[in-house]
Amino acid sequence: MTEMSAPMTPFLNFNLNETHLEIREAVRDLCSHYPDEYWRKVDEARGFPEEFVNALTEAGWLAAMIPEEYGGSGLGLTEASVVLEEVNRCGGNSGTVHGQMYNMGTLLRHGSDAQKKMLLPKIASGELRLQSMGVTEPTTGTDTTQLKTTAVKKGDRYVVNGQKVWISRIQHSDYMILLARTTPREQCAKKTEGMSIFLVDLREAIGHGLTVRPILNMVNHETNELFFDNLEIPEENLIGEEGKGFKYILDGLNAERTLIAAECIGDGYWFVDRAVKYANERVVFGRPIGKNQGVQFPLAEAHMEIEAANLMRYRACAQFDAGLACGPAANMAKHLAAKASWEAANACLQTHGGFGFACEYDIERKFRETRLYQVAPISTNLILSYVAEHLLGLPRSF
Ligand SMILES: Cc1cc2nc3c(=O)[nH]c(=O)nc-3n(C[C@H](O)[C@H](O)[C@H](O)COP(=O)(O)OP(=O)(O)OC[C@H]3O[C@@H](n4cnc5c(N)ncnc54)[C@H](O)[C@@H]3O)c2cc1C
Repeated sequence: MTEMSAPMTPFLNFNLNETHLEIREAVRDLCSHYPDEYWRKVDEARGFPEEFVNALTEAGWLAAMIPEEYGGSGLGLTEASVVLEEVNRCGGNSGTVHGQMYNMGTLLRHGSDAQKKMLLPKIASGELRLQSMGVTEPTTGTDTTQLKTTAVKKGDRYVVNGQKVWISRIQHSDYMILLARTTPREQCAKKTEGMSIFLVDLREAIGHGLTVRPILNMVNHETNELFFDNLEIPEENLIGEEGKGFKYILDGLNAERTLIAAECIGDGYWFVDRAVKYANERVVFGRPIGKNQGVQFPLAEAHMEIEAANLMRYRACAQFDAGLACGPAANMAKHLAAKASWEAANACLQTHGGFGFACEYDIERKFRETRLYQVAPISTNLILSYVAEHLLGLPRSF
């Protein structure tokens, strides 16, 4: 038996896991009601895909990771990643909903029973959304431990002052998980200490200490500047222990990187599928353009890179779901998948020639959407330096 014809064992062929196949099929079916034209119109209007988000919520997909006792499906990050991958693979944009999945990485592990009882059943039923996570600040950027937003304990409340930038889905969420400094940096032995995370009830906060200023941007991504001016948060909204927030939020950040890797995989397959279809149909010089190796090779290359990145994505998912340290795999998966989807996007655009630029082909929209993941939630350079320093043992460069 040649290597090519050898049957793949089920555990090595992740795409053939039966539960995953069922999830894919069900999500694909739901997405078929939200075709290209739907997403194109939302993009053109710079709107929010409210109808799609409601449908995904009603079908229970955004409660995939919520334990069954709280009304969810009790699935893992792996299954959540399949949902988001499939949305992107069908031409949609999971950036509109992924916050609720990755915030579970933090809340399920570090939230109190009271917080879970208060929030999870309502999130599972769709009554509440927990779609936002506030980390990035305008003056410190990726240097997160230097963040300047403070939360100072006064009686039974924390009083928050400071600023955040690029905080997504605030206008379509009821809660946000906020990272703020509770002990001044100079009083902490380590720079990662002295930060805490809080549940912020946006319905109460906006207009009462929290001001939101939307940022118009290249992608139709609802994202905002936040200004905190003596915003009061009840002490029971502190997640876990005070001062350990940076450690806690890493679970959310690793979940986010892994989920975004899956979304990029979905994008990558979408780009290659579209390009192959077009390359087979478009006839120039009396033959399909796909007959030219100059057209074939970038697509073959993109396909291989997506497949390879997909393996790292499943490794990160498996480690996260097993409760193992998954930082290296999550970062590498995000980097490889974002790179693969971006290369696939370029190859797809090139294959389409001028038509790739026409909005009605949806390629320019997906091209913009997938480009974001070279920068957010963490930029490529920062992942490269993480791998160089923490995995290879090279000296820290900054
Ligand atoms: C559409 C969008 C949505 C977002 N949503 C959210 C959200 O919901 N919540 C949230 O908290 N944040 C969000 N972000 C923020 C995002 O995580 C940051 O933009 C990202 O982490 C990069 O940070 P920065 O923009 O401050 O870049 P900077 O830290 O200013 O870096 C700028 C550039 O310099 C490079 N650089 C910096 N330092 C080094 C170094 N030492 N070595 C090499 N290169 C370096 C970086 O790689 C980058 O390319 C969002 C951003 C965008 C654009």
